[in-house]
Amino acid sequence: MSSSTDRRNIAVGPRNGGAAVKGVTQRVHSPNRSRNDPLEEDVQAFLIDENQLHTFDDLTKVNPVTPATVLKCLQARYRLKVFYTHAGCTLVALNPFQPIPDLYSVDVMKEYHYATQPQEFKPHIFIVAEEAYRNVQGQLEPVNQSLVVSGESGAGKTWTSRCLMKYYATVAASAQAVSSQDAAGRIERRVLDSNPLMEAFGNACTLRNNNSSRFGKYIQLQLDRAQLLVGASVQTYLLEKTRVACQPANERNFHIFYQMMKGATDEQRTDWMMPQHQGFVWLPNCEKQIEEDGFLETTEAMAHLGIDAERQRQIFRILAGILHLGNVSFCSSTSESQPCDLDQHSEDFLQRAGELLGVPAEELCRCLRVRTLKAGKQNVLKPCSRAECGVRRDCLAKVVYGQLFEWLVTFINSCICAGQSKWRNFIGVLDVYGFECFQINNLEQLCINYANEKLQQHFVAHYLRAQQEEYVSEGLEWSFVKYQDNQSCLDLLEGSPISVFSLLNEESRLNRASDSTALRGRLEKELGGNDNICWDKFSKVPHFNVAHYAGKVSYQLEGMVEKNKNSLENLMKLLLTTAPHYTRCIKPNSDCRPLTFKNREVILQLEACGIVETIHISAAGFPIRIPLKSFVQRYGPIGKCSASSRLDTDPDAEGADVLQQQVEKLLRVALQHNASRDERRSLVHCGKTKVF
Ligand code: ADP
Ligand code: MG
Repeated sequence: MSSSTDRRNIAVGPRNGGAAVKGVTQRVHSPNRSRNDPLEEDVQAFLIDENQLHTFDDLTKVNPVTPATVLKCLQARYRLKVFYTHAGCTLVALNPFQPIPDLYSVDVMKEYHYATQPQEFKPHIFIVAEEAYRNVQGQLEPVNQSLVVSGESGAGKTWTSRCLMKYYATVAASAQAVSSQDAAGRIERRVLDSNPLMEAFGNACTLRNNNSSRFGKYIQLQLDRAQLLVGASVQTYLLEKTRVACQPANERNFHIFYQMMKGATDEQRTDWMMPQHQGFVWLPNCEKQIEEDGFLETTEAMAHLGIDAERQRQIFRILAGILHLGNVSFCSSTSESQPCDLDQHSEDFLQRAGELLGVPAEELCRCLRVRTLKAGKQNVLKPCSRAECGVRRDCLAKVVYGQLFEWLVTFINSCICAGQSKWRNFIGVLDVYGFECFQINNLEQLCINYANEKLQQHFVAHYLRAQQEEYVSEGLEWSFVKYQDNQSCLDLLEGSPISVFSLLNEESRLNRASDSTALRGRLEKELGGNDNICWDKFSKVPHFNVAHYAGKVSYQLEGMVEKNKNSLENLMKLLLTTAPHYTRCIKPNSDCRPLTFKNREVILQLEACGIVETIHISAAGFPIRIPLKSFVQRYGPIGKCSASSRLDTDPDAEGADVLQQQVEKLLRVALQHNASRDERRSLVHCGKTKVF
């Protein structure tokens, strides 16, 4: 039996097959169940025949669409190891947390790629990939495509992005490339090699994901006229640089440091001045054996990408320098005019850090302990307090690491990017952080959530526009599809002339970083009128709360101004020029356990990404679209039964105008007893060719 037959056997029916499931009934409220628990309430009340639930390949067909029905459906599918489900215009991907044999093999890729109608196969990330691949050529002119992959940490975004890249590296590779090791063959390899390299430098083990990407990434896969992959370019966003010097409890630094510690030869260790059992403050949780065997893979990827041995040595010496810097600490100064002394063992570490980073140790020491202030035209040297010395050390490490990361990205681009004349259009894959809400949220979370807010706006705008086009072409009014508009939250964050970001920028320019109470005052005075911002009256901690589309987040102001706002503007501009495809990754349980589906956790994610709303936007505006002719054929008898309105129901004989009149009459008859005129108007619409 061929693999393709196998898979189709598992397939759960055509994508758009079937209307409502038999046994799914209208909502009946049970008086005994808590009204505050929509989950319990809805699931129990709606779903009688749960055996059918897994058959929904598209959540827009679930009737009615509520958080509970959507949840139940996904759960039923997950139980049967069906991990992908369409939600109208979006693909929902549930993380299996275990390798699924053959789900992503080259054979499967080819099957979707060569299918006449891939969308009729069971839902898969390859449908999205193939759709983008076919659309990129466009009917009139090429349309660049974007695959936006979102979800919370550990949900599977990076995995999905890798899958997409592998898909294109396979189906869009030239025949020559597949069979030989020539130059063309190496481009796919190089593009794929950029993954482990960037993950080594940009990923870390966190509480929520052992291999958590601490940066956002947009990779453009460049295609030539023949739709072959000829190059790629990567842009990265919001690298969490603070992690270099400060790792949250039970989390780790970036993988690359652990890879070095574990994978280096004795010779390398000597070169990096790192004896076998040397401990480093910035390398916590070394005992956890996670994602650290990759040293060889990382160095091989570097070599494939053209980072030669000497360059590699320089990179690792910088990283070792950072680690040594982390072991430098200070004693409190005896007087304000005296710089702090280094503590007992720090002198050695400082010397080595200086040597590895290529700066004289005295110079390094001076810049850590003394700062230069401008007083009129003169520079005044001021010794720093012990705490300030620590902050300066951390900042230096962050800046150096950030620059190294940027250099790496630039280097990767220089060896995977095709010349302008070689490529015609691109498919972009966006792997961003999902919406974040922790106990303590700071500028990093604000930027991440802002990015998500922008993406949500992009998503809503795009799909409403698509819907609008159909409604307009059908001659329907458009304003009746309701959706949650997050413009006012975006105005709060980035609007002009005054916004949260503009105030933060201003404060950081004025160098009033430490005065977070004053900043809170300004936020309240200038932005208090916006409904999306508020404060907890009794909290003593300077903070502000923002009502995001995905939920309310409280941000602490302490230290916010010191950090940078990496810019998303270019990304949004670029995205707007492309046709987007959305994949929402869902993490079925926070313990990363295989095949475990926790209702509470999933429902929160469904809410956070607005999936129910998405389904409504995709379909619930008018989930049922029946061609006029079929409508009259099917419901004509209603009219005939009615004494008040006789209908001619021979649709074959009629033109569109007549059909439309007949439908209007039918609707009047059908709805006159149980709906007001306004209700009728919002429930059913008769277009030029279809009833909505
Ligand atoms: P994110 O990028 O959203 O933080 P990842 O893509 O790193 O999450 O996924 C976290 C982990 O989940 C991966 O390391 C992998 O073990 C597992 N995983 C994710 N998607 C899949 C999948 N489709 N099949 C098997 N395992 C997966
Ligand atoms: Mg990731």
